[in-house]
Amino acid sequence: MASALWHTRQAARKLLDAEQGTIYRDAPHRVALLYPSPYRAAMSSLGYQTIYRQLNGEPGVAADRATLPDDVAGYRARGIPLFTLERAIPVGNYPILAFSVAYELEIAGLIDCLDLAGVPALAAQRTWDHPLVIAGGPLTFSNPSPLAPFCDLLLLGEAEQTLLDLIREAVALGFERRALRALIDRFAGRSGFYVPEHDRGQVPPIAAADDSLLPARSQIITPNTELRSMYLTEAARGCSRGCTYCVMRRSTNGGMRVIEPDRIVELIPAEARRVGLVGAAVTDHPRINEIVRRVLERGCEVGISSLRADKLTDELVGLLSAGGYRTLTVAADGASQRMRRLIERRTDESHLVRSAELAKKHGMHTLKLYLMVGVPGETDRDIDELILFARELVRIHPRIAIGVAPFVAKRNTPLDGSEFAGIRVVDSRLDRLRRGLRGKVTVRPTSARWAWVEYMLAQSGPEAGLAVLDAHRKGGRFGDYKRAFAARGVEPTGPVARVPSTSELIALRRARRQAEPVKRARA
Ligand code: SF4
Repeated sequence: MASALWHTRQAARKLLDAEQGTIYRDAPHRVALLYPSPYRAAMSSLGYQTIYRQLNGEPGVAADRATLPDDVAGYRARGIPLFTLERAIPVGNYPILAFSVAYELEIAGLIDCLDLAGVPALAAQRTWDHPLVIAGGPLTFSNPSPLAPFCDLLLLGEAEQTLLDLIREAVALGFERRALRALIDRFAGRSGFYVPEHDRGQVPPIAAADDSLLPARSQIITPNTELRSMYLTEAARGCSRGCTYCVMRRSTNGGMRVIEPDRIVELIPAEARRVGLVGAAVTDHPRINEIVRRVLERGCEVGISSLRADKLTDELVGLLSAGGYRTLTVAADGASQRMRRLIERRTDESHLVRSAELAKKHGMHTLKLYLMVGVPGETDRDIDELILFARELVRIHPRIAIGVAPFVAKRNTPLDGSEFAGIRVVDSRLDRLRRGLRGKVTVRPTSARWAWVEYMLAQSGPEAGLAVLDAHRKGGRFGDYKRAFAARGVEPTGPVARVPSTSELIALRRARRQAEPVKRARA
């Protein structure tokens, strides 16, 4: 065990040595900031990085990171506890554990982190001398309910302000464990805070951070991440469009907020060599070309997280090519023109053809399209149309790749409550697509089975979280999940209204209008 621990600490040391921007802070109170996926994913998460910087800027508080180990089984077998990167303190010794959870399948990672920290996974089994377990992150925009059995408190929606509100009160109480337990009761029922023990299934509305707290951006730059050595910054938050399957649509997020180019550029650290512009719909930013040009003028490579095919121009693709882009990635989302219309996706075939032409003209190695199969109303004929269309595209650009994800209905969207198409149906459509494009176009699908698990979690309540725990204890295979959902009687419950009310949205917009220097785009 001692030598295993030594090797684990050495590996952590190596990660830290490769980082720029790590914060080592002395403070009377410490929070462990946990990510329930491995380090590579954690350091690509803008929300996680932003909260790390924010907490470390708070008087009296320091935040240390811990991520899900790559080798959870090895940790378990050798009895190695999960410890924080900056301080090498066992996570179980911290008074507050704060998780950032991106999506449903990370709930298993959250359970692993608690196990390795020696903290009972179920909130009901913890006592006042255990750490307080809180969670936030993208999953809370849609359905936080399956997280409820594991958390003392959930921060719903944008957590920049709500987390600080909580932490400031915790500091005032000296981070005393018994007092912290009493403190969370005071937040029950407040917008943006969900205390499962008190709110009993009544999930409050999500919170929106004040514009003055934007943009979210990297604190740490590291080569050991999915987006190697890239500084990430929001260029816009939310989206002004209304695609019916999307949690980021205008009616859930109150429209799109754009960040002024000056603000984006002035915040880029001098040492950054690669800059990623992040947001739900960055190419909808009215001054996107100017931002890309100014980043290039600083001598940086540039990347964009979300290219909308209908917004690509010769100038923008030319700038991206000059900025090191080699794969042009756009979302098509529906398999056919009919499906794209049904889900209110503004992209049409002419935009995708244009994307292929621009990718070719500007020397991009690959054009990658993202889309969903199994959307309600889809038939095999839509897949056949996709096959014909992809064959046309490949005549324009020789390297086309298609990433396919099975459709999963999310809460707070118009398609909430739609059934999963079925594992067999999804697999047969993926198979049809692969056969139709064999040797011509690369097709990269994600698993239909795990999409079904995601669907069960996206559409169910706390009992689905308990089923994850059961399945995980049995080994975490697909069959374990299937049996656990059946044994717990997990049934997708259909639409649950938790979209902010009109008056909440108006108040939200009014608050945003007052904030400078961030400006708001019209929804
Ligand atoms: S454009 Fe993208 S982010 Fe905006 S609503 Fe549609 S899918 Fe969501």
